[in-house]
Amino acid sequence: MVAERPDVVFERSPRAHRYRLTLRRDGVAVAIIPVRGSEREARVFVEEHREWLERARERQRQRPRGAAVWTVGTHVLWRGELTEIRKAVEGERPQVCVAADVFRVPRLDGDLRPTLEAHFLRAAKIELPARTWELAAVTGMEVTEITVRNQRTRWGSCTTGGVISLNWRLVQTPDFVRDYIIHHELMHLKEMNHSDRFWARVEEVCPEWREAERWLKRNGSLLGL
Ligand SMILES: [Zn+2]
Repeated sequence: MVAERPDVVFERSPRAHRYRLTLRRDGVAVAIIPVRGSEREARVFVEEHREWLERARERQRQRPRGAAVWTVGTHVLWRGELTEIRKAVEGERPQVCVAADVFRVPRLDGDLRPTLEAHFLRAAKIELPARTWELAAVTGMEVTEITVRNQRTRWGSCTTGGVISLNWRLVQTPDFVRDYIIHHELMHLKEMNHSDRFWARVEEVCPEWREAERWLKRNGSLLGL
């Protein structure tokens, strides 16, 4: 028989001065018993906060699947390569390396994902518009504005007014995939559809588009899309 996983575990903390309730990532609630507290009182405390706990569990269930934890040793997609997050040797403050890039982090333990994704987003906001202006000039397209956003379902989009929006996660994909998405949006400025004429234009400026589409199909889940 398999022992049932407890719904709530009780932990004594010599540093705690009051009862506390937290929800672990695995869905188990942890009730902290303070120095002078008792498990009986902690159980009452948990019951009083049952409603909060159920809401927290519900929020946790609804979290997107990209919410996995990143730690030193985790392999993440960065510039098209699945790269291990390593502890940086140099420096007094905690930092990690992802391939050749060094990123400062608040601490080395715990989940590095929020911090690293913020670093990736910053890089994307500099690199993706620069590349788009460049490819717009090469292909002779008139772009008015480029925005880089956190999009859950799309790699890019554009408007008839010449505004191109790109998913920041394109800094995680190989260069040829990033360039394909940019070309795709640029060609939409001439053809606002997915007609044969549109694909012929894409083919002309980006002959490797099929390979890029295949890469996106295979690896999209690594990006949480
Ligand atoms: Zn399209």
